[in-house]
Amino acid sequence: MMGIFLLGLGLILWSYAGWDAGVRLFSGKTIRQGNGPGKRVHLSFDDGPDPRYTPILLDILRQKNVPATFFVVGKRAAAAPDLIRMMREFGHEIGWHTYFHRHAYCLSPWRSMETMRRGKAELEEILGKQLRWFRPPWGASNVFQGWVAKRMGLQVVLWTANAQDWKFSTGKTEIIRRLQSRVKPNTIIVLHDAGGEPGAPGNMLEALPEVIDTLRAAGYEFVSLHEITGGKYGGH
Ligand SMILES: [Zn+2]
Repeated sequence: MMGIFLLGLGLILWSYAGWDAGVRLFSGKTIRQGNGPGKRVHLSFDDGPDPRYTPILLDILRQKNVPATFFVVGKRAAAAPDLIRMMREFGHEIGWHTYFHRHAYCLSPWRSMETMRRGKAELEEILGKQLRWFRPPWGASNVFQGWVAKRMGLQVVLWTANAQDWKFSTGKTEIIRRLQSRVKPNTIIVLHDAGGEPGAPGNMLEALPEVIDTLRAAGYEFVSLHEITGGKYGGH
């Protein structure tokens, strides 16, 4: 009976079932920016891990001493569990980004929920601990995922600024320029260490050291997601 009710409700909301519909229905809350004092900024990376790009990214973050959050794709994590453990060893936070990385509007109710459950289970098996941060692909969730997120007690994290770095044509210089103009205090930046157009993560990696240096020169401090959200979401 509950299933039929949810299915009917889902169909009614389907055409405009963005994340907001899920939130309204299931009283969740999404994080789009930080809430702390001062000029603080957070770096998050989506769609990894990628055996070619992620190790280079981890190296840059270590050299620059910057904490980040990785929203990883379950299927990719299953293929490279060592990279996930390395993220953790280096002190980064890990969230997940579904298992299949499909757009929520293109999934059946069953696949909508499966991509969330399976992604979470996969990562928790690798890490041996529960995860809390979740970022839906393209920031879009349907009502079924809203329901699962509520039941799992997840915290949905979106972003404040992006640089369209998944497009190869954006290039290094433009990534730097866009982030310089879009970052404000409490900004959560999203970049991509995998996926997107071929070669695009390479541009991001070329731009990243300069992005970090120029923002630091402008007085910004890079903090973890836990810190920039005021520590009130109970970690990750
Ligand atoms: Zn993504």
